[in-house]
Amino acid sequence: MESTVDRTRLRELMDRELARFEADHPKSRELFERSKKNLLAGVPMPWMTEWAGSFPVFVSEAQGARFTDVDGREYVDLCLGDTGGMTGHSPKESVAAIAEQAAKGITLMLPTEDSIFVGAEMERRFGLPYWQFALTATDANRFTIRLARQITGRPKILVYSWCYHGSVDETIIILEDGVPTKRPGNVGPAVDPTETTRVVEFNDVEALEEALAHEDVACVLAEPALTNIGIVLPDPGYHDALRELTRRYGTYLVIDETHTICAGPGGATKAWGLQPDFVTIGKPLAAGVPAASYGMSEEIARQIEAYMQSVPATDVGGVGGTLSGNALSLAAMRATLEHVLTDEAFERMIELGERWNDGVKAAIDAHGLPWNVQRIGCRAEYWFTPTPPRNGGEAAAAEDHELMRFTHLYALNRGILLTPFHNMALMSPATTEEDVDAHSQVFDEMAAELVA
Ligand code: PMP
Repeated sequence: MESTVDRTRLRELMDRELARFEADHPKSRELFERSKKNLLAGVPMPWMTEWAGSFPVFVSEAQGARFTDVDGREYVDLCLGDTGGMTGHSPKESVAAIAEQAAKGITLMLPTEDSIFVGAEMERRFGLPYWQFALTATDANRFTIRLARQITGRPKILVYSWCYHGSVDETIIILEDGVPTKRPGNVGPAVDPTETTRVVEFNDVEALEEALAHEDVACVLAEPALTNIGIVLPDPGYHDALRELTRRYGTYLVIDETHTICAGPGGATKAWGLQPDFVTIGKPLAAGVPAASYGMSEEIARQIEAYMQSVPATDVGGVGGTLSGNALSLAAMRATLEHVLTDEAFERMIELGERWNDGVKAAIDAHGLPWNVQRIGCRAEYWFTPTPPRNGGEAAAAEDHELMRFTHLYALNRGILLTPFHNMALMSPATTEEDVDAHSQVFDEMAAELVA
């Protein structure tokens, strides 16, 4: 893509920032060196190597919207565990419920009363009547896809190019020059994803209809707006077309709200009046304790229940997980939904999202950068392009890895953590106006240095 900043200047600034990072984090460096002995690539998970510094920052403690690293530096956390910590870290009501439940039984393979509260609350928020639980959004999606396949008898699913729905084999597919193919660099795919999946660009109604007309698609698995290749918003009327076409061709519509819960207490489903057949969601539901959920319509629930009764020993091997629906996750979910991710909390968080958006926009305009900023509720992100991309392909082409590493490191060196792989920020109930303004100031200084 066309460069929006001078590369020589960018590299000089990056070298300066890397030196500053290394000087500021001797203890993290020491721990990273020790980690290399027994951890693959020196980290608990491969993507922890992808942060902008020369090694990851090791955390000593996190509370609310802030955390402290092992070198004693404090940060405003706008990453919030890429939504897993959207509640703010360790909110007191969730922590109390977790401690209480942990002392009286963690996992039993039997229901606890909390599940009834959570099911009713999920219906209030998302409108669907029947709910089940899993531990990760990945699993909520995997189980939903299986159920949709079972009741439609259709083999395929449909996703958007450059979507992300977790490590679900069927979804790791893109369009390259219009041709479906596995995502570049993807590790060890089970089968060629074109066997299981149809893939179209987001916002392309014509391609969607062409794909669904084969009548072999069990479900469309959709984020209401793409959030995993940056924020890509739907065109006006796109969701009406998606709903109309999925109904016309007998395909179920699964809305994955794992990130778009940022749109409000009932996600984009409630905020934008969507009418999905299934909803899936994970990450922040239990304040960071592993928990996920998937909901379905009355009509679907009846079909699945009928199937379960017709086959005496229904093989649920592909839908489940021993720890799914465990007592601890449900207690944490109940407390989090009841007291932390409340309707009132979202009002404040969304105002903060607007404030962050406005701060970034003001600096972009003041320094004449050809960049833009996008927002869904309490999540916002800036792009290194003058206009926002309309689909995953355009978004992938607009990525500028070198520049993004710099923007992240610049912020990190000044006490602000952004979401990795994007220039994205999320607001929690514990985030303050001061936190947001601290980012606006750092962003403004960075923009000034880049164009100097
Ligand atoms: N769905 C969406 C929309 C996501 O963004 C993600 C993770 N980024 C997932 C599902 C998977 O979540 P997890 O890794 O917690 O299973």
